[in-house]
Amino acid sequence: MTDIDIRGDFPLLAQSVNGQPLVYLDNAATTQKPRSVLDAMRHYYEFDNANVHRAAHALAARATDAMESARAAVATFIGAPAPEQVIFTRGTTESVNLVASSLAQGLVPGDEILVTAMEHHSNFVPWFEACRRSGAVLQTAGVTATGEIDLRDFTARLSPRTRVVAFAHVSNALGTLNPVEEMLALVRQQAPAAKVLIDGAQAALHVPLDVRALDADFYAFSAHKMFGPTGMGVLYGRRDALEALPPYQFGGEMIEAVSLEAVTYNRLPYRFEAGTPNIAGAIGLGAAVDYLNTIPRDTLVRREASLVSDAMRALADMPGVRLVGTPKQRVGVVSFLVEGGHAHDVGTLLDQQGVAVRTGHHCTMPLMHALGVNGTVRASFSLYNDASDLERLLRAMHKTLTFL
Ligand SMILES: *Cc1c(COP(=O)(O)O)cnc(C)c1O
Repeated sequence: MTDIDIRGDFPLLAQSVNGQPLVYLDNAATTQKPRSVLDAMRHYYEFDNANVHRAAHALAARATDAMESARAAVATFIGAPAPEQVIFTRGTTESVNLVASSLAQGLVPGDEILVTAMEHHSNFVPWFEACRRSGAVLQTAGVTATGEIDLRDFTARLSPRTRVVAFAHVSNALGTLNPVEEMLALVRQQAPAAKVLIDGAQAALHVPLDVRALDADFYAFSAHKMFGPTGMGVLYGRRDALEALPPYQFGGEMIEAVSLEAVTYNRLPYRFEAGTPNIAGAIGLGAAVDYLNTIPRDTLVRREASLVSDAMRALADMPGVRLVGTPKQRVGVVSFLVEGGHAHDVGTLLDQQGVAVRTGHHCTMPLMHALGVNGTVRASFSLYNDASDLERLLRAMHKTLTFL
């Protein structure tokens, strides 16, 4: 298993930081990009750059084709029934904002929105704001000491008044893989009127997706966490759920006809894509998906999972190290604290040894609060990490412990 080497496809990884070969373990914040993604974006700007749709010339046709092929590739990758159910956005954050601000228009005081205490701020603050504006009540399902959603509390907070339920597929702070199928079934049973949005930012790369089978109303993710570019993301929606949403932003591209008296809106997906889209970003995302289709993804996901469990075991054995979050099922992430050492200092000492991790609250302050910590040190793995990265992390941690 160890001889699979996709690392060579990622030019950035072949560098030294602070005099040591880089070990990049901040993949939950963003992933590096394979050469094919960089080439596809460069090719677009070098040869095909033109605004998309409604033009007679060859460049515009090529740019439109490239963008729409990317949409089709993404649709296939996630199991969407049709490409027009893939809305291009700036990222998970914008996808959630789109749904939250559109749904908020139909909410009245007394309606309820249910989220969990595990959410990234991107899947918490838009709902908080939707409640503030509409008078709806924000319900928050608690998390257990192991860093899992408390399903009993989640169920108890569902009611016929629940209009929206939003939760993460995988926690960015702890790596917890949530039982999304079971949670969806609970919502459909207890709160049949509710729309469900799943934040898939941490899942899209590591968990095989079939959005049609999963059947949430909305599923959001970001290109940059799955080997694609920043500033690019996706909102997938069930056709009925998307068609029932009022538009989010207004301007060019999203209209069908405009006169001084009346405006009619375009069909899916353009209704939700006001303005010139991130064409290069879409092409980069399409290339990332094409790349993922060429590598032995299942094998690499299994290797990543075994690196994560080895990391957990080894870190837990180090004196003074405490794991934060011990969920039964996890993906990609190990969060921990060192007794007597501030998380930020641990991060800095690791960086001096060429090991990049992230420290702090990971945009999940309600979760940190629920777990009684200010933040953690987070090592997050991706498909290009291998046993040598883990070994370097552990060696650097041993040395770090002697300094603290
Ligand atoms: C990164 C992340 C987000 C936000 O994604 P952006 O790309 O910053 O919009 C939301 N939720 C989770 C779980 C994340 O990991």
